[in-house]
Amino acid sequence: MFRDYAEGAPTRKLRADLNEAGFRTSRGSSFTVQTIAPMLENPAYTGRCVYNRRTLSKWHRYQNGASVERQDEGVENRNEDDWITCEDAWPALVNPETFEAVQRRRAESKSKHYSHFRGNAMKSEYLLTGRIFCGVCGGKLSGTTRTSGKGVKTRYYLCSRHQAGHTDECPKRYSVPADVVERHILTVIQQDLLRLRDDDKLHEYVELELRRLHGHQFDAREQLQRQLANLDQKLATLRDHLTAMKPETAESLGFYQQADDLSAERAEVETALKAVYAKASLPPVGDLRKRIAAEFDSVEALVASGTVEERRNLISCYVKEIKADPNQQVVRIGLYPTLLSQRIAGAGFEPATSGL
Ligand SMILES: [Zn+2]
Repeated sequence: MFRDYAEGAPTRKLRADLNEAGFRTSRGSSFTVQTIAPMLENPAYTGRCVYNRRTLSKWHRYQNGASVERQDEGVENRNEDDWITCEDAWPALVNPETFEAVQRRRAESKSKHYSHFRGNAMKSEYLLTGRIFCGVCGGKLSGTTRTSGKGVKTRYYLCSRHQAGHTDECPKRYSVPADVVERHILTVIQQDLLRLRDDDKLHEYVELELRRLHGHQFDAREQLQRQLANLDQKLATLRDHLTAMKPETAESLGFYQQADDLSAERAEVETALKAVYAKASLPPVGDLRKRIAAEFDSVEALVASGTVEERRNLISCYVKEIKADPNQQVVRIGLYPTLLSQRIAGAGFEPATSGL
């Protein structure tokens, strides 16, 4: 069955073959396309036992190697990273190459019929999932698509806690129009970058700050190197004394102790110096304007024609949290305050004041 599918046989052909050969499902009924599709995706047929592909658990989910409280309910398809896998748990019925080929065909056929998929598959279209919260109860907002009588689809975010029936915590039903809020957030990011691109004062400030940091780093290095040379000198003198005198005399004068202390101090200075060198990846002062312009262009391109995944990543870089307030009918957007400058200036650069 897997081989046929990998070679392009339609699922209805697989259904006919299975049923004609007299096979029945575990409940004794005939196979349908709906029962075959999940079989094709089940890694158990390659001998691999996978746990946590889906969860029905009411309170917790297994995530990043730990049990995490969940605030929603119902069946949830879990991230592949969180699957618990045991290879060769039983003899394989399907070889891995065929299984892989089947998965590729499954993914292809799913993407072709994307708009027909509902529930979890549709949720991946929502850019703000995991970042947008309810201002009343603090619960997560999750994406939903409603279809009007005329067949027009509109996407919304709804409070998952209210939806789950916790009306004591979140009494009012409300919906946030997804298109409007998503578009607005992308515009806010663009405008922020644009402001940054054209702000000469800010460029001057960042340049000055970078020069200052470069200077500090240089001074710190110089000072530590002087200290190191000084300690080496002292150690050399001490060694000369030690070779010239009897061990008992040296011991009684505390010279051995002194040598130990100096060595320890030298090791410390050396570590500090290494740390200063390791931090030396400050961005160069000159091409700040170029970097901002490049970032702005790439953001523009993403907003215009990026994939859902790319746009979601973009938002996660700039937006910390979004809160919907149904009573005032507003959505508050929390941007990372220093992130813009960090992204543009490069790793390790933190401006001394906020306000950037
Ligand atoms: Zn709520």
